[in-house]
Amino acid sequence: MLDLPIEYVKGVGPQRAEVLKSELGIFTCGDLLQHYPFRYVDRTHFNTISEINEDLPYVQLKGQVKSLEIVGQKNAKRLVVLFSTSSGMIELVWFKGYHWMAQKIKMGTEYVVLGKVNVFNGKYSIPHPDLDELNEEFVKNQSAFQPVYSSSEKLKYKGLDSEGIRKIIRGVIGQSGFEQIAETIPLSVRKANQLISTVDAIRKIHFPQSNVDVNAAGLRIKFEELFFVQIRLLRLHHNRAKTINGYVFSKVGAAFNDFYNHHLPYTLTNAQKKVLKEIRVDLGSGKQMNRLLQGDVGSGKTLVALMSMLLAIDNGYQACLMAPTEILAQQHFASFKDFLKEPDFEMALLTGSTKTKERRIIHQKLLNNEIKILIGTHALIEDIVQFQNLGLVVIDEQHRFGVEQRAKLGRKNTYPPHVLIMTATPIPRTLAMTFYGDLDTSVIDELPPGRKAIKTLHYFETQRLRVNGFIKEQIKLGRQVYIVYPLIQESEKMDYQNLQQGYDNLLKEFEPPQYQISIVHGKLSNEQKEFEMKRFVNGETQLMVATTVIEVGVNVPNASVMVIESAERFGLSQLHQLRGRVGRGAEQSYCILLTGYKLGADSRLRMETMVRTNDGFEISEVDLKLRGPGNIEGTQQSGVTDLKLANLAKDGDILQLARKAAQDLLNEDEELIMEENQCVLKHLESQQKNRTNWSKIG
Ligand code: ADP
Ligand code: MG
Repeated sequence: MLDLPIEYVKGVGPQRAEVLKSELGIFTCGDLLQHYPFRYVDRTHFNTISEINEDLPYVQLKGQVKSLEIVGQKNAKRLVVLFSTSSGMIELVWFKGYHWMAQKIKMGTEYVVLGKVNVFNGKYSIPHPDLDELNEEFVKNQSAFQPVYSSSEKLKYKGLDSEGIRKIIRGVIGQSGFEQIAETIPLSVRKANQLISTVDAIRKIHFPQSNVDVNAAGLRIKFEELFFVQIRLLRLHHNRAKTINGYVFSKVGAAFNDFYNHHLPYTLTNAQKKVLKEIRVDLGSGKQMNRLLQGDVGSGKTLVALMSMLLAIDNGYQACLMAPTEILAQQHFASFKDFLKEPDFEMALLTGSTKTKERRIIHQKLLNNEIKILIGTHALIEDIVQFQNLGLVVIDEQHRFGVEQRAKLGRKNTYPPHVLIMTATPIPRTLAMTFYGDLDTSVIDELPPGRKAIKTLHYFETQRLRVNGFIKEQIKLGRQVYIVYPLIQESEKMDYQNLQQGYDNLLKEFEPPQYQISIVHGKLSNEQKEFEMKRFVNGETQLMVATTVIEVGVNVPNASVMVIESAERFGLSQLHQLRGRVGRGAEQSYCILLTGYKLGADSRLRMETMVRTNDGFEISEVDLKLRGPGNIEGTQQSGVTDLKLANLAKDGDILQLARKAAQDLLNEDEELIMEENQCVLKHLESQQKNRTNWSKIG
């Protein structure tokens, strides 16, 4: 029944099938049953005219048409119907399709009107209401929970408004085949999680009798969606672990010990220790490591990366670290040198601006296993870069790299190297479980000791003088300051104007030679950028004016103030990243958010959140609620958009249960061979088949 092509479903036919496919992506009867109502209305309750107000989501009235008239000029023509109920009169208005409507309406017939009230010229009216004859059929279908379905103009034109869709679904559910729809979740899992059967759930989500039904059906369907995403991810993970062997890093040797005993500049935080232990277990396990390391900005991920790479060297392998920007790669290279002092192995830096001659030497030395650690940018992925035995790949700031680029690095050996992915963009647990459910994850949830929490302040642009005064005070104390301007693709030109103008104004306020200003943006050549950055890093300039190119990773501990211009134009995760550029030294640091005076509700919430908390995970939760899972980076390819009812921003609890259930089930029956689990295997296969169909169509 579920696979039945939609045109063969009773009441559909070829013409309606076309629009259902193109407008809603409904190709089969199963797809139709998954077109869930977005709300329910109570069709047993009738309002009185005195109850009416525009805050009600809808009103339902019973009565007769007293008069109807097409009024207005050319483009403003409309049908106005005077509707009379036992408690008073109200106008119904149609702006479209009014000729047809005017012909359809019968005087003296009892009608039921359903719609949302509008106020026009101080008078209540109902635009484009649903109008049903109050006949036997209506009474038969009358329900306190009538489903409302999303539709479209094209669908309505084919008679498939909410009501039309409801009728067809009602028909399907009434057929004898419906009861035979196969269960997809094993009984034990259903019992443990108090889930109703699939048949029950489908019936109740479309035609509930009560709120209890709505909730029970919702739980079952959301659980199922999330459960199968988790089953797929976990199976991917198991399969990879089974089919791909990893290099075994069995010993801790001179490189690691020498660093740990003689050069480690500070005690590791407990979180760093814990994560290193997790990594060491992976590296020694004989399986290939695929680990995601999440840690807020400034939590000390670089050190963890370095120490993991030393383990590779101790076991005779090479290691590489890939960073998203040249500046960052250089910084890593510099801090590695700083950390290691005079190591007795060779390290190299390879970026887009490495000279050809030097590049050739590096290529050669990589092949000879003379270079043990390579740090670089995208240049690392080029095919010409070949290692003798690459054992570990570290990718910093993961969100800047695409999946394909990651895969390419993994293929640098016949035997895949271990992979450690580091990201400073915390993502909510629910998303992490869903995007990276096939990776193992480690979290550094603690900052190095002695850090003072960054103070975040929100000012309006009108208070700029005060902000400038504050900046001067800080510079007097010997600190450095970032001033960041937004750069958003569509209005690039204007953004540069803003940046340039801001820079000119700053020059007036912070006059040379007393003050020196660096400026960095995307239009500068790499050398120019480099030059300006270096001046700031070396303390020759006190102010750094920049676009978001500095967002990622840059480490200047003496910089203690981050001013963000037009902060309302940045997303929360970006604001948090930017703020993470300060607060890296022992001094009290500040982040100043400058915005216009008038702010929308979302912008205000973003500013308030930034002022309230420094916790990246908390911020990511707010971000998820504001933007919805579909708009968070990386979601598009993740299959999250397959979720119809489950919402990762709201259904974290159900996700936990579903993940646990999926884990338990696969722990007991990894290959899904038990009789009881055949339903899971079948459903996975049919999902797979539908995917392929979709991609063929797409
Ligand atoms: P991120 O996780 O953002 O990449 P970094 O690795 O750049 O953070 O570390 C931020 C700063 O904290 C660096 O200056 C680093 O040297 C320092 N740091 C790292 N670990 C510790 C520690 N255990 N104790 C004190 N400072 C540390
Ligand atoms: Mg970093």
